[in-house]
Amino acid sequence: MHVIDGRPVEGTGPEHTLIAPATGEALGTYRLAGLTEVDAAVASARAAFPDWKRTIPGDRAALMLALADALEARADELARVESQQTGKSLRLAQDFDVPGAIDNARFFAGAARQLTGTAAGTYWPGSTSMVRREPLGVVGSIAPWNYPLQMAAWKVFPAVAAGNTIVLKSSELTPGTSRILAEAAIAAGFPPGVLNVIAGDGPTAGQALVAHPDVVMSSFTGSTRVGRRVMEAAARKGSRIHLELGGKAPLVVFDDADVEAAARGAVAGSLINGGQDCTAATRAIVHRSLFDAFSERVVTLMEGVTVGDPADLATDMGSLISTAHRDRVAGFVTRAQASGATVRCGGRTPADAPAGSAHYSPTLVTGVGTDAEIWREEVFGPVLVAVPFDTDDEAIELANDTPYGLAASAWTTTTNRALRAAADIEAGCVWINEHIPIVSEMPHGGYKASGFGKDMSQYSFDEYTQIKHVLIDETDGPRRDWQDIVFTTPDDAALPERTRQ
Ligand code: NAD
Repeated sequence: MHVIDGRPVEGTGPEHTLIAPATGEALGTYRLAGLTEVDAAVASARAAFPDWKRTIPGDRAALMLALADALEARADELARVESQQTGKSLRLAQDFDVPGAIDNARFFAGAARQLTGTAAGTYWPGSTSMVRREPLGVVGSIAPWNYPLQMAAWKVFPAVAAGNTIVLKSSELTPGTSRILAEAAIAAGFPPGVLNVIAGDGPTAGQALVAHPDVVMSSFTGSTRVGRRVMEAAARKGSRIHLELGGKAPLVVFDDADVEAAARGAVAGSLINGGQDCTAATRAIVHRSLFDAFSERVVTLMEGVTVGDPADLATDMGSLISTAHRDRVAGFVTRAQASGATVRCGGRTPADAPAGSAHYSPTLVTGVGTDAEIWREEVFGPVLVAVPFDTDDEAIELANDTPYGLAASAWTTTTNRALRAAADIEAGCVWINEHIPIVSEMPHGGYKASGFGKDMSQYSFDEYTQIKHVLIDETDGPRRDWQDIVFTTPDDAALPERTRQ
């Protein structure tokens, strides 16, 4: 289940049973990565770094493109494994997760060859200064279970394209597609040790990877709570971090919006991946004049969503990641209802869900105050909560009244409202009349408690590099005029004249 130094390796941690959350059945067992595997993977990455760093970008790009092809050749298997281990619909895995990850590999193959930064120039008399963009060393990356392949891709590709070597720790619940990624890298010709993949739990393997003295950067995607622990551990050794954390995205529907478009956007945006998406629409903020029409249309659309067997291509939404997580999601809805909220649809396990499965129905909740737990906390399930507003200022205030700031959308037919929402909403991404699309060329990452550092795009590539100032003296002779500030000697007059100054 682990790939270290280009070879499959058994773990030395406790045995873990992989469960298919859509059925509750066991898929198999494996031993988690323990401290031995963390150490071995970091040692392998460290040994591989000097040579990998010296490869030219064109050669790294060629390997990345070969890796993309190797992934494409296993696309069906990737989609099947992703769907089985997460419970997400096969349709989502094959049409979104797998092509998204492959496109990301091809994007970073190109990004590796694109030089950014200042050009060489003279900033000190008689010299040329230039900037070298260089990799950092061994990167330790930690990925969550919601999009195991895409999160691995977003971490691995910019890091290795930039010349770093990496140890990726996938979630113990979803190790399958990260392992296939590592196998595809070997098949594509990546040198052993450049990409090591382990699967283990957070407190053991994750914590050890962050704390490891040879890991110079920790790149983490997961909850804000764990992200802060990662930050603390990295602070103790003073190393870099890159944090993609939780979200509670608002979806603001102004009074001039196309209600049908907004309702469809809200349903797709809140139910994608069973709502286990950090950018999912979770808080609908709807002008009072449209509130009833919007809510009724969302209920109709949600009730038409097919929840069931993820392997059936007719299924819209599979199960959540586990029964424990489903119960956590259900708990938010039950407590909201007990406090007077109205559950307009869903709020239950579908009647025909297999025993032991982790399904939950698409849910719309209204009638909550903005201090309600379900309005403020990340539910991470197929649950949309809607509240009305009266003025544009109030809508923006509500959108920003959250510790999170990952993504948001605004629905309007007026340009000035769209631009105002784009400027005033505190989030790393603001969609106008859309919710969800993320592309390899554009940055993804949070404001506020949603983290810092960008995934995707050239900005992400830059995160995995450091820049070095190189100054080259162009003159002849041993003496430099500025040194007179520090010292002068009677010998100065005897030294030859400099040819340039
Ligand atoms: P999580 O924080 O529980 O776990 C994420 C990863 O961290 C897992 O691999 C886990 O094993 C590891 N981990 C746990 N404790 C650790 C520790 N002490 N030290 C090091 N690693 C540790 O998150 P999750 O439940 O797997 O994923 C859901 C969360 O991820 C949600 O909050 C979601 O918003 C967030 N997320 C964010 C983005 C983004 O781009 N901002 C994308 C996907 C998911």
